[in-house]
Amino acid sequence: MGNLVLGIIILLLTIGGWAWGWNYFKDKSEAEYKRLYSQYKADGKLERSEIQDLLANLPAALDRDLSLGALCYETISVTATERNYHYYVCPLCMMRTAYETKATNESEANRLNVLMNINEYRRLVKQVKGIDVKLDESQFCRHCSPGISNPHLLLVVNWENGSDIHKVEDITAEDLEILAEFVQGAVVHKGERDVESLLLDYSPRLKRLLGFPVEAPDEKTAR
Ligand SMILES: [Zn+2]
Repeated sequence: MGNLVLGIIILLLTIGGWAWGWNYFKDKSEAEYKRLYSQYKADGKLERSEIQDLLANLPAALDRDLSLGALCYETISVTATERNYHYYVCPLCMMRTAYETKATNESEANRLNVLMNINEYRRLVKQVKGIDVKLDESQFCRHCSPGISNPHLLLVVNWENGSDIHKVEDITAEDLEILAEFVQGAVVHKGERDVESLLLDYSPRLKRLLGFPVEAPDEKTAR
């Protein structure tokens, strides 16, 4: 009986030790990750392979607690608008395209949301430094894209000097935020009111945005 208990204890210690050792060697700490990032970013840009390696090494835990956000409550004021049209001004040809400010379905609502926040998207994409990304707004301009009835905003990722171009549509402001944070070497995403979450949790989305294969389904695709 005594031998059996001793045997079980030794077995548990062995498994525990193995699991601890495995985690110890598998996960990079925040400091180790930052060192890897600095090494890759030393030449000012991030190669495709470096980005993939960084994605694979995002820390799963920090040596501190994540911030739960500042305790302030902002009141969102909604300004009533009398206008029935929102005018999109194309940055390429400077022509205006009118969009009705009334959405009758989800895709129209999404489109309006993009149009209303286009300046924020333009500002955010400039924060994505070190890799070659840009917004393609051209579908919103009826002069640049005649015949497009359901325009989308595209994020264009240019790898290997244009030999590998990845386009993704229906991006959100949060997409651009996590991308900017990731290429700046951050390991946490700062959301609204500075609520923090691990960037690792966003790695499937980051892979999708960057055009890398995603191993497991990361999103609910059921409609
Ligand atoms: Zn245009």
